[in-house]
Amino acid sequence: MSKHALLSPSSSSRWTKCPPSARLCEHIEETTSFFAAEGTEAHTLCEYKVNTALGYITEDPVAGLQYYNEEMDSCADEYVSFILETSLMEKDAGKDPQIFTEQRLDISRYVPECSGTGDCIIIADRSLHIIDFKYGQGVPVSAVKNTQMMLYALGALEMFSPLYEVEEVSMTVFQPRLANISTYTITAEELITWAESYLKPKATLAFNGEGEFCSGSHCRFCKVKATCRKRAETNMELARYEFTEPALLSDEEIAKILTQADDLASWVNDIKGYGLSVLHRGGSLPGFKLVAGRSVRKYTDEKSVAQVVKDAGHDPYDHKILGITAMTKLLGRSRFQELLSSCIYKPKGKPTLAPESDKRPAIMINDFNDMEV
Ligand code: SF4
Repeated sequence: MSKHALLSPSSSSRWTKCPPSARLCEHIEETTSFFAAEGTEAHTLCEYKVNTALGYITEDPVAGLQYYNEEMDSCADEYVSFILETSLMEKDAGKDPQIFTEQRLDISRYVPECSGTGDCIIIADRSLHIIDFKYGQGVPVSAVKNTQMMLYALGALEMFSPLYEVEEVSMTVFQPRLANISTYTITAEELITWAESYLKPKATLAFNGEGEFCSGSHCRFCKVKATCRKRAETNMELARYEFTEPALLSDEEIAKILTQADDLASWVNDIKGYGLSVLHRGGSLPGFKLVAGRSVRKYTDEKSVAQVVKDAGHDPYDHKILGITAMTKLLGRSRFQELLSSCIYKPKGKPTLAPESDKRPAIMINDFNDMEV
């Protein structure tokens, strides 16, 4: 039985909420993605740049990076600046900060056989900083009560506790492609209390394959998210909801459905994706078959088409300015800022439904009327 990374920091948001998921997913192969490979390379570049900034001589990895581009370079530069600024801030406060990169951390005091790698750790007397670089640009990741960050922080506390009396721990998610810097600061005592009272019992259950299955937004990262019975049961409960008369739903009933709508939609998508993969592999699903999807007409040879249209006296090209993402890639983030920051504005987004718990303020009805809907 492979015990490698059964309970990893990166999957901790799942196994703390649904402990038996750890053993259930244990033998299911990891799928690798372009995004994961790109993220790994960005981390390699970051490590090199931080070490160089600290005066260490290390080999420049750029020639071996398949996904290296200006955007990756400037994101890594921003990360280095953030680390140096954090360190400087501690120096200005009269402390003696020490910076560590790609530090192996032992978290097994709280989670069986668990270890992780901290992208950057700064120890400054009684303050500890954990900085995690995230190259993804899907959704902004919050550091607040982020279990992955808290596990890294526990590993760092373990590492430095023989030498330092750490009182305060700051955990930062640095996600430059979304301009997201999220920091969560708690006392070392609060962190250890959380680890002893919440993390440790959950980790023991997970390691032993015990505890209750529990579905929720954390299922998104679960390897059995499409075939999990618990998740199906939870989502199918909505379909079984017994609406009372009259024939039309009340606003309260609509609100109840909306609270589950996102989870339900993502579950249905996962089920569809799984069904498609079964048929692609040559399997069968009673009542379903593969058919050709809708397609759009295409030119057989774009160059010939352009020539024919030019010969006929027309301009075959549509000259459009690059979008902001493509322009940032073209110029690099710093050059983009330098040249175009005064030319960028952010229109108000279209009104969208969100639960009460959403951090964004509610729109007043007058704001609503001012918007283009
Ligand atoms: S899909 Fe959700 S409920 Fe099912 S095992 Fe995974 S985390 Fe638990």
